Amino acid sequence: MTLTSFSLDYFSLAGKVAIVTGANKGLGQAYAVALAKAGADLLVVARSGDCEETRALIEETGRRAEFFQADLSDREAVKQVVPECLKVYGKVDILVNNAGTILRSPLVEYKEEDWDTVMEVNLNSLYLLSQEAAKVMVEQKRGKIINIASMLSFQGGKFVPPYTASKHAVAGLTKAFANELAEHNIQINAIAPGYIATDNTAPIRTDEKRNAEILSRIPAARWADPSDLMGTVVFLASKASDYMNGHVLAVDGGWLAR
Ligand code: NAP
Repeated sequence: MTLTSFSLDYFSLAGKVAIVTGANKGLGQAYAVALAKAGADLLVVARSGDCEETRALIEETGRRAEFFQADLSDREAVKQVVPECLKVYGKVDILVNNAGTILRSPLVEYKEEDWDTVMEVNLNSLYLLSQEAAKVMVEQKRGKIINIASMLSFQGGKFVPPYTASKHAVAGLTKAFANELAEHNIQINAIAPGYIATDNTAPIRTDEKRNAEILSRIPAARWADPSDLMGTVVFLASKASDYMNGHVLAVDGGWLAR
């Protein structure tokens, strides 16, 4: 690249193929639509059957939307995602590990099975899926993996011990993968969303006291909408971020700056 060759085309995803997990709603849906608007075709991975809204939004952009139903707490299902993408599109340029779950309970009452569920979905499936994608990307000599971290990749939180543990681990794995794969022209980075209005945060938004506590700490003084994250995912999926590796990028209205 030279100074004169740089253009907004560096943000274009024309001709790229992206996998987004958990894209039937919430942030995953916003990431999928953003990638499609930037030119990518999508393999949408969702546990629930109903992805019609996501399909309509992607097809509105003129891009192709294919769906794969998988419960990411089932390792055998996780291992089928990348082969499915190869079967449909013949390559994988971008993987967005978005699907995640949060189960809230006081620490001393926290159930072992809930610990296992959260770790399986948020961490183990992300690891296995990234490993499968990395094998293909090493062969292709290019690729982008975008993990979804959290403010609880940096902070402890309350009532969500496995969520915190899994999201700290996501930040660690982002760096571990980047260290081994950067030399193959594969960039692995993470987005750490702040407080976004989705189903994931509905219980704390409806809790008046907790909602007020959260809002009082956000310099931007508002909850984010999933659309606030669309530019970030396109940037990390595009040539414009080719020298970014192992970074956890907070999009948090300034939460961590406080
Ligand atoms: P959401 O609306 O609850 O969406 C979560 C997505 O993950 C849904 O598509 C859900 O599918 C999927 N998922 C959960 N368990 C799954 C499983 N076993 N197999 C397959 N898919 C599964 O929440 P969101 O806020 O958009 O969260 C998306 C990601 O952002 C998560 O990783 C979350 O931790 C992270 N995040 C969110 C916030 C926030 O403030 N909202 C902040 C930081 C990080 P179903 O519809 O089938 O349940």
